[in-house]
Amino acid sequence: MKFCSRCGKEVLDEAIICMNCGCALEEKALANTKDVENVGFNVLSFFIPLVGLILYCCWKKECPKKANGVGKWALIGFVANVILGCFL
Ligand SMILES: [Zn+2]
Repeated sequence: MKFCSRCGKEVLDEAIICMNCGCALEEKALANTKDVENVGFNVLSFFIPLVGLILYCCWKKECPKKANGVGKWALIGFVANVILGCFL
């Protein structure tokens, strides 16, 4: 159950406009539903850290969680490459 922020009347949870005054109701954090870590991109970032870095820069504003995921794996991949590079 939620209430209209303008007139205070009770409105349906799924309603997008108030039936009483007709004003638009706040949308419930719709924007962040796509902001989840993507395993495929994390793996890609691990093997190609440069790609992870680019994705991180593209996503850090809109999808901080997703950006942090690829950023983290790009860093791990980079470190792994350096360590492997020392042994080869
Ligand atoms: Zn209203």
